[in-house]
Amino acid sequence: ATNRVFNFSAGPAALPESVLREVQDEMLCLPGAGASLLEISHRDKLFVDILHDAQDTLRSLLGISEDYSVMFMQGGATLQFSAIAANLLRGSGKRAEYLLTGSWGKKAIAEAKKEGDAVAIYDAKETNYDRLPTASDYTVSDDAAYLYYCSNETIQGVQYPSEPDCPDSVPLVSDASSDLLCRPVPVDRYGLLYACAQKNAGPAGVTMVVMRKDLLERADPNTPGYLYYKNHHDNDSEWNTPPTFAIYVLGKVARWLRDEIGGLEAMEKINREKSDSLYKIIDGSNGFYRGHAQQDCRSLMNVTFNLPSDDLTAKFIAEAATHRLAALKGHRSVGGIRASIYNAMPREGVETLGQFMTDFAAANG
Ligand code: PMP
Repeated sequence: ATNRVFNFSAGPAALPESVLREVQDEMLCLPGAGASLLEISHRDKLFVDILHDAQDTLRSLLGISEDYSVMFMQGGATLQFSAIAANLLRGSGKRAEYLLTGSWGKKAIAEAKKEGDAVAIYDAKETNYDRLPTASDYTVSDDAAYLYYCSNETIQGVQYPSEPDCPDSVPLVSDASSDLLCRPVPVDRYGLLYACAQKNAGPAGVTMVVMRKDLLERADPNTPGYLYYKNHHDNDSEWNTPPTFAIYVLGKVARWLRDEIGGLEAMEKINREKSDSLYKIIDGSNGFYRGHAQQDCRSLMNVTFNLPSDDLTAKFIAEAATHRLAALKGHRSVGGIRASIYNAMPREGVETLGQFMTDFAAANG
């Protein structure tokens, strides 16, 4: 027995229990190493094999071809805000175009502006980031340095159901930090796709970058070394010491997803069932719960909603805790509740939350 709660944290977030147990079993002595993984060199063949296995498992899950590099970096998703612009915008003579559908896109463009000409061609701020653009809301220039969007805005719970329109001549760039691995992705439509691990793929400390190899040559070699993607690609993610523990756990999560869940199509089906069950309760609550995101862009991963008052929100959070339902408080910019239900959130956790929501609305509505 453990005291583990159903953890709805937006990130770092719940991990599969079987993965945590494996890590625990191997903590003192990694098989074959005579030491903990935490204690061995990143150049040790045992670790290099672990790194390659994590890359290969991601390649097989996402169907990533050899036209793309799979890199592991540090600095979180936040460093990518700068790295993308430093590699693909700075010195290009072009402008980078951004679709802003939430807080993380806004942060990304602010960093890109330090590197060059970055413009928002769509910004949903007037409606407090509750929606996506339609095709007629924006036009991407044929010669843009890239088109940037965030596939799932973690704070607002706004997710693109599929890729935005983008001319073939323009590399499509996505921050998929909070939804990579939640469903299949047509990777070959992207120039670059990245995600920090601490939501859907592992612990904090590692960021996965999937980049079309021809784009590696675009950057100026004088780009600060850590930001220069080619350094990471040419040195197989060992240009400097990589976050070994985070990569090791990420590899185990990827294997869990492939071998225990059965891959991304199976995962998407489960994620749809989980999120649909909560949205159904919101829609059926006669306005007691009000979803933040418009219906056509509700996230599979972050279910955001408000209650009739701040007092009821506080009461909801306090009572939920007595049912082992934890970390449900919404981000201050949206308020209310945010239930992050990443891949590792078990169905039982979502069912327990759903029952609690139904009972709470009946008692307080
Ligand atoms: N992008 C998105 C979509 C996120 O959810 C987050 C983390 N909440 C970030 C970027 C920033 O990630 P990090 O803290 O790893 O820099």
